[in-house]
Parts: sequence; structure tokens; C-alpha cells
Amino acid sequence: MTQIQNFIGGKFVDALQGATLDLVDPSCGRVFGSLPESKTEDVDAAVQSALAAFSEWSSLGPVHRASWLNKLADAIEANLTELALAESMDTGKPLSVARTIDIPRAVSNFRFFAGAILHDTSEAYVDRPSVLNYTLRQPLGVVGCISPWNLPLYLFSWKIAPALASGNCVVGKPSEVTPLTAFLLSKICADIGFPDGVLNIVHGAGPSAGAALVAHPDVKAISFTGGTATGKTIAKVASESLKKVSLELGGKNPTIIFDDADLEAASNAAIEAAFSNQGQICLCGSRILIQESVFERVKAKLVNGAQALTIGDPLDPETKIGAIVSRDHLDKILHHIEIARQDGGRVLTGGVRVAQKGRCKNGFFLAPTLIDNLAATCTTNQDEIFGPVATLIPFKTEGEAIQIANGTRYGLSASVWTKDLNTANRVSEALSSGIVWVNCWMHRDLRTPFGGVKESGVGREGGTYALRFFTEAKNVCIKTTSL
Ligand code: NDP
Repeated sequence: MTQIQNFIGGKFVDALQGATLDLVDPSCGRVFGSLPESKTEDVDAAVQSALAAFSEWSSLGPVHRASWLNKLADAIEANLTELALAESMDTGKPLSVARTIDIPRAVSNFRFFAGAILHDTSEAYVDRPSVLNYTLRQPLGVVGCISPWNLPLYLFSWKIAPALASGNCVVGKPSEVTPLTAFLLSKICADIGFPDGVLNIVHGAGPSAGAALVAHPDVKAISFTGGTATGKTIAKVASESLKKVSLELGGKNPTIIFDDADLEAASNAAIEAAFSNQGQICLCGSRILIQESVFERVKAKLVNGAQALTIGDPLDPETKIGAIVSRDHLDKILHHIEIARQDGGRVLTGGVRVAQKGRCKNGFFLAPTLIDNLAATCTTNQDEIFGPVATLIPFKTEGEAIQIANGTRYGLSASVWTKDLNTANRVSEALSSGIVWVNCWMHRDLRTPFGGVKESGVGREGGTYALRFFTEAKNVCIKTTSL
């Protein structure tokens, strides 16, 4: 059995009250360990150790901090096999995905921000020959990083890397559902002698450990990725102490396929966008908008594509669709499918649990599901399901596609498929969305702004956007008196 502990001030400790939560492998429904159920006093201990470490870490300078981040990246890379297995076991995602995407991406997050901080620049304004203004960008102090269960180490490192690079000390709270790789990261920190107290990791439930971090008076900023409802709660609580907040929230992202697109490429990408990571990525394209003249052709390709995905044991290299992250989440997705049926939705493929044999017979597997015949305004097309469920919606004109695409409370990302550059430019400009991909999906460059509009979030992560979030700008104005 795996026993996860908090990592506070460089030491491994249990929750002060000693309570624990179960760790469950969703591919077989088996409890394989426990994690501390931390409360306010555990969070406070972590914040105190971060405060104690801040002066030394922040004055270390970018070169030394970058060197520590590179050491972390190297050590994660050296432990790729163990980390990938742990990520797969915790989330139910195919091991091949954890090996080739999740863990390598955590490595590149640390390497990227190690490089970014060395190349970070600041503004200077010469007013008159004798007056110079320049901007100092100073770390905030102790910051909180709260991450979700879908891409655990990938998203955790996406937050803590820029926070550490810019000189802050961190208290991280991974999701209680998938804490294992964050725990292994704390072991890596201990192994490489990472300075005590600079990165603290507290495990536990969101409404207790997470909420205590958000409310803590000595925490200067919260970087949060998770659901919109949680994000709103965090924004409210954080406003009490006027903390900075960065909120990366849910999405109901459209994949828009025009009739002049390369339909083969568009259909393949739409399948990938709908079902990668069992549809549990905030960027997943859960609404597939198809121009009426090619609707039936694309529909046939999509149904074939969904049925070709191999569902099975995440440890099997052939598996494309692993388990849903938890029993609760599986039930929630099935409930959404039931609502779609009641609203007249036609399930074209999937819509049911998939039984597995052997090791995975009690796992939480769901067939990739495509549904059509639903109004763009119905619940299924408005609410984030966050599972392997996508709808097909026909449209006649560019204007109608934009109207449907923008017709939800979310605005995270969109993927537009057309060969016409004018269409691509017009539609990209008109979409209420933080990210637009044209003739691709989820192509990521870590320098670009990442985030959403409307209920998909506040603020941007990535490149200098993240470094700006984790620092405070101070203007220094110098007047030189003449001789
Ligand atoms: P949640 O909002 O439930 O949880 C996210 C994190 O917040 C977890 O660590 C959770 O802890 C914690 N948390 C929960 N309640 C509170 C609280 N009151 N105060 C502080 N922290 C709290 O989201 P999920 O983990 O279910 O993740 C899925 C959601 O994340 C989806 O909506 C998805 O779209 C969104 N997401 C957004 C991304 C983006 O970049 N925009 C990327 C990935 C996901 P615990 O789990 O222990 O309860």
C-alpha cells in the first residue's frame, strides 16, 4: 500500500490530526493506498515554512533558481518510468499517454521556465534626459498552486515552475483524487537536496485543505486550475484578503468544420479533440459543428473514428481509451448522457459502460460517445461534461457557426477547420475564446498566452504571462540633478 505524506519544510509528515483518504486505481476500482486529509493547521505549517525560506530563495538570483529548476527537470526525466506508471494508476489514463505526454510535459515546464527567467526583461522609460523610470519585477512571497486531477503533474508543474522561477515559495495542493505524482515530486525534491521550504506540498480535500490555502492571510496569490464553480468560490474567498488570482476553468469548446476543409484531417482531429484523455481535458472539443452540406459524410467518419478507438487496460500499449478517473465521475457522465437521451438526443455510438475482463473487471470504463439531434441550447450542449462525450451540430452559414460556437457561458478554446484563410481569420476574430487553433488542435507553444474568457477563467498562463502573474511590478523613478 502506498502511503502519501505531506512535504513541509523539506520533511515528510502526516496530517496533524492523522486523518487519511483512500487512493483508488480507477482501472480496477482497487484501493491501493492513502493520503493525508490535511486541514487548516497543516496548511498553516506549510505556509510558515515557505515564509521562512522566502528570503534566501528570492535573493538567490535567476541563474541559481534556473539551475535548481533544471535539476528538478533532469530528475523527473530520470524517473519517467516510475512517474508515468504512477500517473496512469492514479488517473486511469493509458500508460503510453503518461509516458509520452504527461511526464515529458512536466519536464519541459521546468526547463521552459528555467530558460524563461534567464531571458526575462523589464521596461525602462526615459522621460527627459535626466529622468529614468524602470520597472522592478519582484516575487510576491508565498503563493498557492491548486491543480486538478486530469493532468496531475503536467498542470501542477505548469504552475509551480513559473512561481519558483520568479522567486516565490510555493504551497501546492494537488487534487485529492490524483496526488501520487505530486508526492513523487516531493521525494525527488528531497533526493536532489532542493532547498527546504521552497516547495511545500499539502494533500487533502479541496473544501478543507484547498480552502484553507485560499483563505490564508500570508498567501499572496492563488493560481488555480479546476471547475468553474470552484473557481468562483476561490475568487470570492481570495477577494477578502485581496489576493491575486489566476483562474483556469472549464470549457465547452467547439470544433468547427467548414465544407471546404480537409475532411479526413478535420474528422481525425475532431476525434482526438473529443476523446483524448477520455475527454477529460479542459481543451477537449465537446461540440463538433459541421457545415450542413458535409454533415452526413463527416458524421460517418466520426462514428467510424470513435468506434476504432481501443478501450482497455491503461497498461496495455494498444489502449487508446483508459478508465474514467473515478466512480463518481463516471456516474456523473452517465447522468449527462441520460439527460441527452431525454432531450431527444440520438446516441450514434457509445453511451454505455464497457466491461473489461481480468485485472480491470471492476474498472470505470466508458465507450467514446457521439450524440446528435440536440438543440445547440440544450443542457448537453451548454454544460461541461468533462468525459468522452461529444455532440454533432449542423450549421448552414459562417454566421450561424459563430453564433452557436459563442452560445455558451464558456470561452476557453476553439478549433476551426477550413482551407480559406479569409474564413479562418474572420472566424478566429469573432470567436469568444481565449485560444483558437486553425487546422489543428492542442498544438502548444509554452510562450503563448493560455486561458479563457467568460466562465472559462480570468488571467493567462504561459511564458511571460505567468512570470508577470507571479511578480509585482514596482516602478523606480530616478531624477539626476545636473552638475
Ligand atoms: P475542481 O474544481 O473540483 O478541483 C480542482 C482543484 O481544486 C482540486 O485540487 C480540488 O481539490 C480543489 N478544490 C476543490 N474545492 C476547493 C475549494 N473550495 N477551495 C480550494 N480548492 C478547492 O476540478 P476538478 O479537479 O474536478 O477538475 C476538473 C475541472 O477542471 C474541469 O471543469 C476542467 O474543465 C477544469 N480544468 C481546466 C483547465 C484549464 O486550464 N482551463 C485545465 C484542466 C482542467 P480536490 O480534488 O482534492 O477536491
